[in-house]
Formats: sequence, structure tokens, C-alpha cells
Amino acid sequence: MASELYKKMADYVDSKADWMVENRRDFHKFAEGGWHEVRTCSIIADFLTKLGVDELILGKDCFVAEDRMGLPDQEELDRVYERALEQGAVPEFAPFFKDGFTGVEAVIDTGRPGPVVGFRTDIDALGVFESQDPATHRPAKEGFASINPGEMQACGHDSHATIGMMTAETIKKFKDQLCGKFKFVFQPSEEGVRGAKAMAGTGFLDDVDYMMAMHIAPLNPACPEEDFNFRYKTCMANAKLDVFLTGKACHAAAPESGNNAMLAAAAIILGIYGIPRASVGDARINVGQVIAGSGRNVVCDRVKMVMELRGLTAASLDYLEPYARRIIEHGAAMHGCTAEIKLMGATPAVVIDSPDFTDTLVEVANDIGFKALPAPQGTVATSDDYAYMADRVIQHGGKSCYISYRTDEAAPHHATTFDFANEKDMTKAVKIFLAGALKVAGL
Ligand SMILES: [Zn+2]
Ligand SMILES: [Zn+2]
Repeated sequence: MASELYKKMADYVDSKADWMVENRRDFHKFAEGGWHEVRTCSIIADFLTKLGVDELILGKDCFVAEDRMGLPDQEELDRVYERALEQGAVPEFAPFFKDGFTGVEAVIDTGRPGPVVGFRTDIDALGVFESQDPATHRPAKEGFASINPGEMQACGHDSHATIGMMTAETIKKFKDQLCGKFKFVFQPSEEGVRGAKAMAGTGFLDDVDYMMAMHIAPLNPACPEEDFNFRYKTCMANAKLDVFLTGKACHAAAPESGNNAMLAAAAIILGIYGIPRASVGDARINVGQVIAGSGRNVVCDRVKMVMELRGLTAASLDYLEPYARRIIEHGAAMHGCTAEIKLMGATPAVVIDSPDFTDTLVEVANDIGFKALPAPQGTVATSDDYAYMADRVIQHGGKSCYISYRTDEAAPHHATTFDFANEKDMTKAVKIFLAGALKVAGL
């Protein structure tokens, strides 16, 4: 049965549902992709400052700078910074988030003994051109579709950011009746798995006893009334590589005076797909994009290839990645070209759900009047760079759970028409965060 304290907190969350909708729509309209989230972070920082959290960690102090992956170039960072200011970033806070340091962390400390509970919500949009068709897309019709072309909150992280903020507000409001410590992580650049490693690396989460992460999810067709999805997940190890090949251009009529980077790319692509499958774990390979060449009668001197490698186990990626790197280097050399390889994103193969904590949260969800089915046996492979945080917490003796809150989604994640009309479903995500935190504190 839900405690009296939980009921009061849940009522408070319900009373703020309209604010949550408004805030989520604001983040949706001013969508900011990975490492662009200056405006979003400035609003979160301003919000948490006004709440009066006990500790606020902004920008640079949230990251191991060199572990940030897939950073845009300086020109792009400067452009989005200016754009953020024009689009209403809070001027007092915006400078903290310059140059790709777009993260916020906060602590609420009750001063009483109790567990340290962490909440991770990601905040980034992704590289999608949002539909602007009012006939088929509600955000366009209601005026909150993204005004930033090629950046769209198409994975619901606008809702996650809002859920994190509301969780902090409710905990602050009831702080006197709580115990222990609460830590909040607002993470940039989850898409492309680029942001979490640098945040986990600071050690901010090392004292966390119970860590929860949240993601939106579609309704379960087999059980449409299910409110949350719990699974025992392991993360697929993942390496995202950008490869730049450099050859030498020349006239196509005399190819012997050049070095053909296009041929090198072709050899590399076939070579990589031909890596023998290992016995140490399932694997995936995808070369998703090749940009090459300048004209019909010119031997190609420059190629960019975008690829990713995934392994169900750490060992399978440990086998695959160096193999692929050898093929890239030697495939380039074979045609007299050179290769530069940039690691743009990565996740480790680790467990992200502690089974006993997950089972507890399933019980808690049902206790507070929601429906959650027992987590299925066995593990499911997925990729979210929350894995770095979960791993850090678990390595230090804590427990972790990745929760998905279900809602009726208008289109699949990452689609140009992604939306969810029942925006007040965000309140249930806040409620499971709060109920989980109360449960582990014995309240
Ligand atoms: Zn996504
Ligand atoms: Zn997502």
C-alpha cells in the first residue's frame, strides 16, 4: 500500500501536470541536439537554483572533458550558443554550457541518514527534421514543433528532462519529511551514446546506493494497460567510428598518378562485412554512410565513412573492433591512402538492471496503483549510454534500474512525426521515481 507521504507527493505532482506539459512543449519547440543543449541546460540550472537545491554542478564540472565523444566542431558550437541566446537561454547560466559542456547535476541533501538515490534523465534532441504538417502532426498543429531544422525531440527526451525537474521539485518540497540524499543527472548527447561516459567518469555517482533512469516507451500491444516496462537488460557493447580516408586526386585518364580513396573505401567495406563471426558473442556491423568523390573524371582523394560495431558481449566487441581497425588501416594502405579513425560514441557491455532492485520497483509500481508486469527472465540487449553510469554505480556496490514509462505514441521513436498526446503520462514517471526512492528509504 502506498504511504501517506507518497500520496501527498503524488497529489503535488498531479497539481503540476499542466506545468510539465508546458515545459515539455517548450523544450520540444526549441529542440537542441547532442552537445547543443545550452538553452535547455540554462533553463534547468535556473529552475534548480530557484528551487534551492543544496549543490548545483554546471557545465565543465560535470564532465571528464576528454571523454566527451562526437563533439561538433567549434564553429558549430559557437553557432548553437548564439542561437540559444536568441531563443531564450537564461543569460546568467548560458556561459556555463559553452563549448559542449551541456550537462547539469544537482544534490538535495536532507541531512538525515538514509540512502543516496540517483536519477538520470537525458535531455538531447536528435538529427531529425520534424514534420511541420499540421494535418498529420499534432506539435505542428498546436505550435510546438521544433523551430530548429534538423533537430527534433523525436525520442521523448524533452519529457525526460521535465520528469527530472519535477522529481527534484517534489523532493525539495517534501525534503523535511525525507531522509538520505538525492542526486540528479541531466545528461546531454545520449543519442549516438556520446555523453554518459564523461559524466560517469567524474565520480559524482560513486556514492549512489540506488540509481534510476527513465525512458518513454510505446504501449505494450499484449497488455495495453501496462504503465511501466521493466526488463533485465544488458547493454550491447557499441563502438561508433567515423573514418576519413585521404588519397591523391588526379585525372581519371591517368590514374597511376593518384591514389584512389574510393577503391580503398570499397575494399574496407567488403573487408569489414567479411570479418568471420566469433564464438565469443553475437555481433553487428553497419557501414551507414559513405561520402566520397568530387567528379566523374577525377580520381577520388577523400572519403568519409560512418559505421558502427556492436557486440552482445565485451569479448565480441574486443574481437570485432581491432579487426575492423586493421582492415581500415590496411585497406587504405593497399591503395596508397591513409586512414584516420575517430571514435564518435561507445557503450560497454554491462548489466544495467540489478534484478532485486528491478523486482522491488515492479512491486512498488503495483502498490501505488499502476500496472507493471514482472520483468521477463533472461536479459535483453539494448544500447543506452546510461550503461556507463549503471556500471559505475554497480561497481561501487549500488543498484541500478532502467525504467520505461509507457504512453500511446503517435509514431516510432526517431520518426519525423513522433509524438505522444497523453502528455500527463509524464506524471506517472515522476511518481515511480518518487515511490522507488521512498521505498528504499523505508518511507
Ligand atoms: Zn533515441
Ligand atoms: Zn532516447
